[in-house]
Amino acid sequence: MNILVINCGSSSLKFQLIDAETEKQIAKGLCERIGIDGSQIVYQPAGGEKEETVTPMPDHTKAIELVLNALMNEKTGVVKSLDEIGAVGHRIVHGGEKFASSTIITDEVIEAIRACNDLAPLHNPANLIGIDACKKLMPDTPMVGVFDTAFHQTMPQHAYLYGLPYEYYEKYKVRRYGFHGTSHSYVSKRAAEILGKKYEDMKIIVCHLGNGASISAVENGRCVDTSMGLTPLEGLIMGTRSGDIDPAIIEFIAHKENKTIDEVMTILNKKSGVLGLSDNLSSDFRDLEKSYVAGEERGLRTILAFSYRVAKYIGAYAAAMNGVDAICFTAGVGENNPLVRKHVCEHLGYLGMTLDEEKNQVRGEDREISTPDSKVKALVVPTNEELAIARETFALVK
Ligand code: AMP
Repeated sequence: MNILVINCGSSSLKFQLIDAETEKQIAKGLCERIGIDGSQIVYQPAGGEKEETVTPMPDHTKAIELVLNALMNEKTGVVKSLDEIGAVGHRIVHGGEKFASSTIITDEVIEAIRACNDLAPLHNPANLIGIDACKKLMPDTPMVGVFDTAFHQTMPQHAYLYGLPYEYYEKYKVRRYGFHGTSHSYVSKRAAEILGKKYEDMKIIVCHLGNGASISAVENGRCVDTSMGLTPLEGLIMGTRSGDIDPAIIEFIAHKENKTIDEVMTILNKKSGVLGLSDNLSSDFRDLEKSYVAGEERGLRTILAFSYRVAKYIGAYAAAMNGVDAICFTAGVGENNPLVRKHVCEHLGYLGMTLDEEKNQVRGEDREISTPDSKVKALVVPTNEELAIARETFALVK
């Protein structure tokens, strides 16, 4: 069965068509600038040329229509008709406490996702628009929602509660939810496979280090803690997000710079992280690494601060699980940046972890990067959120 995986943002839409039986990607692409001048669709059949077409896309329904036309195109398409798409898997950012696993999308589910809009005002409405557009164009095709928050719903209360008046949890469900759950789940399972161990017997820490970055503790196949919180702003230093800060800084900066809370929040989300720390050099680790290698102070301080925060969380999560068997690096930076991995692992000798410097040079493929005698294993495990969504979807509709 072919599964269409849709990841819908407010002005963009990423898609992949995956054969669920062979787990092979058949085609992939991206619609950009939906509802904005200059929108374009990028489409690439597996093993074929990438096509970029600038074409008006006033809304997401038009974008999905163009995606389906590209998939069915006579020359470069990969299916003959919509009947060859068995189901659609939608990435949904926030499922609140309602969704602890993926689910078939029904009208009630749509309403329950809408009820979580408050918790993810930028993301959930866009996800719902994607669902709505697919419903219009493929009314008879089953759809599944796969939630970024679901994997983390197994966290115990002591890990998800904040030190705030309890009534805020009761009234508004203010608590830690965590994100990137599909990736944390996929990578932790894959790590057990690579090591030939039983997933249910392992203590695994997953470092998802991309433009957004989060870390999780997975004990016996269940998430017991994660660094992102009510929103994806908490935790590690990210591309442009600050991660953990003293909450009093918000008021302090608002007074000093004469800004509103909203303006300071925009700075914390869009102008902070490694971009802000590097004095606006870049949010991209390739640029930061160049600066580090050139001996510039801003590259050095940024890479060291980023890596130190990751190491600090690894220590916390080793404590949370009273031990750790494997530490996994994934996503853009985790998979491709040996320098960051080296600086993280420099702090982990006390755990009995020894990095193999040569193996650590790997980029973008599964690899154990610790020495054979290392008590705690370190691994690079490329994430594949689309495949994980296709698997979840297939499991529910087959
Ligand atoms: P993501 O959000 O997972 O796409 O990760 C984006 C980050 O990964 C950016 O900071 C990139 O610099 C980094 N990244 C992606 N590919 C590479 C690569 N081949 N080499 C080094 N860094 C990379």
